[in-house]
Amino acid sequence: MNKAQLFAKRTKIIATLGPASNTPTTVKALIQAGVDVFRINASHCVSSEPIRDLVYLVRDVADKMDRPVGIFLDLQGPKIRIGEFKEEQVKVKTGQMFTITAEKVLGDATRVSASYPGFVDDVQVGDPLYINDGKIRMRVNSKEGRAVTCKVLQGGVLSNRKGVNLPITQISLSPVTEKDYADAKVGVEAGVDYIALSFVSNSEDVDLLRKYLDSLGGKNIKIISKIERQLAVDHVISIIEKSDAVMVARGDLGVEIGVQNVPRVQKLIIRESNRLIKPVIVATQMLESMITSSSATRAEVSDVANAIYDRCDAVMLSGETAVGINPVEVARTMREICMAADEDMMHQKQEEGVKISFVHSSQATSICKAADQIAEENHATAILAFTSSGNTPLIASKLNSSFPIISPTDDELVCKRMSLYRGVIPLMLPRKFNDIHRWTEMIHVAIEQAKVTGLVKAKDVLVVTAGIPIGISNGINSIRVVTVE
Ligand code: PGA
Ligand code: MN
Repeated sequence: MNKAQLFAKRTKIIATLGPASNTPTTVKALIQAGVDVFRINASHCVSSEPIRDLVYLVRDVADKMDRPVGIFLDLQGPKIRIGEFKEEQVKVKTGQMFTITAEKVLGDATRVSASYPGFVDDVQVGDPLYINDGKIRMRVNSKEGRAVTCKVLQGGVLSNRKGVNLPITQISLSPVTEKDYADAKVGVEAGVDYIALSFVSNSEDVDLLRKYLDSLGGKNIKIISKIERQLAVDHVISIIEKSDAVMVARGDLGVEIGVQNVPRVQKLIIRESNRLIKPVIVATQMLESMITSSSATRAEVSDVANAIYDRCDAVMLSGETAVGINPVEVARTMREICMAADEDMMHQKQEEGVKISFVHSSQATSICKAADQIAEENHATAILAFTSSGNTPLIASKLNSSFPIISPTDDELVCKRMSLYRGVIPLMLPRKFNDIHRWTEMIHVAIEQAKVTGLVKAKDVLVVTAGIPIGISNGINSIRVVTVE
């Protein structure tokens, strides 16, 4: 992307890696097309080792391009799957009885095993049980020994290892599984920026992963909670508070709460995440038809734009870039939709004066608001928000600044982490804050670096925010207006 595109595209794009995209050439083309963050889907990694290779692949390409690209590892979580069948597939009919057993058997049209035998104890008679993204629907009719017999409410075709959803069942399976622990360990070692936890039920699940990451020396790795269960929706505020970022995981969410409830819950999650100053991602089926087609449907384009109008930080591509026919074209399409909606949002802001309510109104909030007003009245090109934690840029971003928020930092991890924040352009400084003793010098260093990367040029007006004295992290307290020499 060129400078104009970098400034105009405020919404961040996440692309999932997969067989269609995991080569240096495609990763590079995806970054050029506008991808800010890559997602590694652990569900599709049988062992943990491929995760390491994918992290190195992205890091290598991004370093060569000198671009602050983020990486997140998406853990499978306690996903239950059916076992395998004797035949390639079986047909279950509406109205028939179907048994799911804890025994290890090869399945047929009347029964199949489950990847998590304990679920037999967890389910209650009357619980809904869905298989294959909710395409097949059953209700638990009875429990006998190590098996559960269900009445099929909506029949269809079943094949090996399809996913099972139990929307209202309290599952005693650990929210972080053995596979998740092993995958997360490799993620920490390889240096991912974020780790996403699937099927979160409550804030204690987040605590569990946090403790584990900390114990591995992964304190700096941020946690994304995927909201995809009714239980998570019930505890959404406390989950958002505990998490570093949130994902509206509409695939499983739609299965568990009913697709008709997804739009309402999407808006709720985005609104609360913004209020609580957490980055929020909208995911799944955003440009689904482009997995096999060269263009997106009008409905898909509207969906992406509407997620942006809801004020999400990032939109995500899954199968579109992992297994689709043309991942780079999908990313370009996504960028065009983002740019059009982002531009429109800026006009909206000026006309309507949109405000985001905050739980805690702080000094940083006031300074960010003031910076925005100063930028507007002085025809600034951008806001230059110095940061050692990423906090100020995140607040500025949540206030929906109409200006690009260039965020110089001396911390490599903070730089990559900010790749997820709407409207924020991370800028890695060549020197440490601790080695710079005067504010003017710090501004000089950042402007030189911004010039090198093509972000600013002579005569540009910048509104600078910073915490003085520099290097001592006690929040921002200063604003200055500078003209680039
Ligand atoms: P998944 O999560 O792709 O890992 O299932 C996203 C979703 O459920 O929407
Ligand atoms: Mn999911």
